[in-house]
Amino acid sequence: MSSEPAARLEPTVRPPGLLLVLSAPSGAGKTTLSHRFRAAHADAVFSVSVTTRAPRGAEQDGVDYHFVTPERFAAMVAEGALAEWAEVHGRRYGTLRSTVQSTLDAGGLALFDIDVQGGAQLKAAFPREATTIFILPPDAAELERRLRGRSTDGEEVIRRRLDAAHEEVARGLASYQYVVLNDELEAALARIEAIAAHARAGLAGLDDPAAAAVAARCRRGEADVGGWKVPKGA
Ligand code: 5GP
Repeated sequence: MSSEPAARLEPTVRPPGLLLVLSAPSGAGKTTLSHRFRAAHADAVFSVSVTTRAPRGAEQDGVDYHFVTPERFAAMVAEGALAEWAEVHGRRYGTLRSTVQSTLDAGGLALFDIDVQGGAQLKAAFPREATTIFILPPDAAELERRLRGRSTDGEEVIRRRLDAAHEEVARGLASYQYVVLNDELEAALARIEAIAAHARAGLAGLDDPAAAAVAARCRRGEADVGGWKVPKGA
């Protein structure tokens, strides 16, 4: 019989990575929140989506999006290269499966700025690893003010965007795990941080009581939705 001491058991399994999904109607302040979150988490990967829309302003290929032709997008769908995809405002957008896979393999954190249809698909495919957060603008009047403020488009285009934004809010309030009202930037950021910390702790089999308490107050059904109407049955 060997007199060697028994080898100590070290955990060899890394906790699974966290797929943090942030969705919002345009005009909710999601981009600012996403940038602030990334600045505070140097290790977080931002999922660069594939899209068939053209670059806008200073957007760079491979940084803001991977800009592709509709044919290339269709080929990627056929190859199974996308973990989710959806049509938004007549253009296609999708998440690279490789981004999801490398995050899960590394036990890292990836941030997804995708629409509610895509968020629902990721949650269905990765029920444990994906956490969905819906960001609400302070109120409907502020949403309209922001949409008008950033647009030089005509009334009809603005109306269409407003309708789409209201539709997105209804879907988010009906299906996402967490709802964060962006009435004040720092407070909204702190809530997103707490939800992420709570989710990461849960994946590692740990508890972070302070984060859990904040996250509990952001759960759909519990969250402060300001003046927004929660759809029946949500
Ligand atoms: P924009 O064209 O203004 O950059 O984005 C329009 C919408 O598409 C936003 O709601 C954005 O979150 C969403 N989006 C961006 N990338 C993806 C993606 O990979 N998948 C899905 N489903 N939506 C996306």
